[in-house]
Amino acid sequence: MSHSSTDYNLLAATKFTSNGNNNKNGNGAAKNGPMDIEKIFGENAFDLDEMQSRLPKDAYESILATIEKGEPIDLDIADSVALAMKEWAVERGATHFTHWFQPLTGSTAEKHDSFVTPNKGGGAIAKFSGKDLVQGEPDASSFPSGGLRATFEARGYTAWDPTSPAFIIENMNGAYLAIPTAFASWNGEALDHKTPLLRSNAALNKQALRVLQLFGVEGVYAVTSTVGAEQEYFLIDEEYYFRRPDLQMTGRTLIGAKPPKGQELDDHYFGSIPDRVLSCMLDTEKELYRLGIPVKTRHNEVAPSQYELAPLFENTNVACDHQQLVMITLQRIARKYGLVCLLHEKPFAGINGSGKHNNWSMSTDAGMNLLEPGDNPHDNMQFLFFCAAVVSAVHRHQDLLLVSVAYAGNDHRLGANEAPPAIISVFLGEQLEDIFTQLVEGSVKESKQGGLLGLGSSVLPNLPRHASDRNRTSPFAFTGNKFEFRSLGSSQSISFPNTVLNTIVAESLDEMATQLETRLETGETLEQAVGEILSKVIGDAIDIVFGGDNYTDEWYAEAEKRGLLNLRSTLDSLHHMLDEKNIKLFEKYAVLSEAELRSRKEIWVEQYFLRINIEGETTESIARRMIMPAAVRYLKQLTDAANAGKDLDLDVDGITDTAKRVADYINRFQKAVGNLIDQNKELGGETAHEKAEHMRTNVIPAMKEVRAMADRLERITAHDLWPLPTYKQMLFVK
Ligand code: ADP
Ligand code: MG
Repeated sequence: MSHSSTDYNLLAATKFTSNGNNNKNGNGAAKNGPMDIEKIFGENAFDLDEMQSRLPKDAYESILATIEKGEPIDLDIADSVALAMKEWAVERGATHFTHWFQPLTGSTAEKHDSFVTPNKGGGAIAKFSGKDLVQGEPDASSFPSGGLRATFEARGYTAWDPTSPAFIIENMNGAYLAIPTAFASWNGEALDHKTPLLRSNAALNKQALRVLQLFGVEGVYAVTSTVGAEQEYFLIDEEYYFRRPDLQMTGRTLIGAKPPKGQELDDHYFGSIPDRVLSCMLDTEKELYRLGIPVKTRHNEVAPSQYELAPLFENTNVACDHQQLVMITLQRIARKYGLVCLLHEKPFAGINGSGKHNNWSMSTDAGMNLLEPGDNPHDNMQFLFFCAAVVSAVHRHQDLLLVSVAYAGNDHRLGANEAPPAIISVFLGEQLEDIFTQLVEGSVKESKQGGLLGLGSSVLPNLPRHASDRNRTSPFAFTGNKFEFRSLGSSQSISFPNTVLNTIVAESLDEMATQLETRLETGETLEQAVGEILSKVIGDAIDIVFGGDNYTDEWYAEAEKRGLLNLRSTLDSLHHMLDEKNIKLFEKYAVLSEAELRSRKEIWVEQYFLRINIEGETTESIARRMIMPAAVRYLKQLTDAANAGKDLDLDVDGITDTAKRVADYINRFQKAVGNLIDQNKELGGETAHEKAEHMRTNVIPAMKEVRAMADRLERITAHDLWPLPTYKQMLFVK
């Protein structure tokens, strides 16, 4: 097979016609004309509008109070909500419902029940009451519990989350209603990502309200964090995907030589988005709109075949559910176009990987952004107070932020040579950094870029809005009215990083509020008290603030001098997870008990082991069953040709030289494979920890050696004999 890339483009184009336009449920792309966003937005979500029009007034008001003000759900309304929800879902073609939850694997899980059960004597009985809505009992013994759930009580239960809208998932042959739920053991221990997230938001709410009250802000009932997560991903032709066992088993290529430099730039930067890809993107957007998820495609891809999608921010709980749906939808819709969406952090070695930028802020129920610099000194004082709380929290809990993004896939970005580095620092922008520095010194005398100073107060400046510069190398950057945590990996659930952010900021706000209360009681003015507190809090945390290039050796040295952590791999980070300070923090704010935290660590260490173990075995299998046979066939062709040439008295030096080189590579390859086989047999010990450590210290290096030799063989072996699609094919055929 020796297709040029043009042939492949033809192939791709054919596929587009047969897959993209031939979808039967009418959600297709090109032929459907422009979409009417207003009409379709949220049509597959049981949102507030839908509830208002379908629920009795008192039931609607009760659920609205739960959603907007965080009041406890009144279970007496469950029956009427269930009835309305079911009617709506059935009208939209749903025949089944499921409690949708987020186990600690990082993905989502569901178990379907039908709305009707056939009757023995004929007919059917409807089944979906308030009870079915509120609580479910999935057969969940196969989900990881990290020792929290003994096998004799293996059945966890799911509990309805009324604050995240239920939605419809459609398929060519039907549809079902998905109800967002939390997942816990019978004695109430969280087995999922949603439960601690909701608890952390409650903690943040409580402390932020205290602060707002001290600042004299009235009419605020609730504060929630808000999140908009930008998602990077790759799209490749499905044919290649199916011919790559490594992509199928692990989401990334374990073997494969990089295409020659330069080419990627040409092809990528100057090409427009190919039709098929664009159709896929538009269709994905449309499906997300229908689910009530406000997204926007962006084309600022860095690597070939890499793209990005960004949503409008929402409250964190809903944003986390929606982020899961974004990942599911990207993958689902790609298949309609003969494409596969790769969410792995590093599908292609040597090519830019994929991350997820977690934009985070805090907002009141009235929509006041607490990280928005204000128009007057009083508002600015409040802004600086919240902003300092975040900076202080990040300084104190660098380890937890790193824990929240630590897993095998993300090791390819953090701590490798890719954005951002594993050292957490905060970028504030020139002006804000200057103000912070002056606050440490006790007073602000002038503001860079000419902002008005000291209006009405001797300490606090008037901040112009959005003065912040961009610093693309910072892991934690203030971007005008929010912080952007950039260390998340593209495939991960954003729930735990936001659980950590909510909790650590709640702690800072708690402590700062207490100091403020004490000072105000002794008769200090608000300005005085805030000035003193900011000076102290920022002074203690200022080492985390860094405005320069995070990739330089100078910064690594400087960060070490400042005592900042540099945890370059998953196991290094997880090692800190159970530090005394972290157990205390999560217990104090009732986000995770010690047992719950321990179970999470256990699960994540185990998952690291499992991931790498699968990679190791997949590499071994490809090496032995695909690469070695191909290389041997090529060697045989060369030696046959040399022998035949000699019979004819030809000069066969070129052939024998090549054969010698191939034979040499094969020998070295075989040695590397032998070592990997040995390492794969070995487990390294009994505990998850020992096994994980063995993966890191022995299996990963052994895999790398195999890859290095395989990539050499790839560069020399006849193309038609090479059994795996190449980087060039995967990345440039669109
Ligand atoms: P950029 O200049 O990086 O394009 P945007 O304003 O478009 O910035 O925001 C990027 C992401 O940040 C979007 O997903 C957006 O929804 C999110 N975002 C904006 N404001 C907030 C906020 N207050 N809280 C959380 N996320 C936000
Ligand atoms: Mg961004």
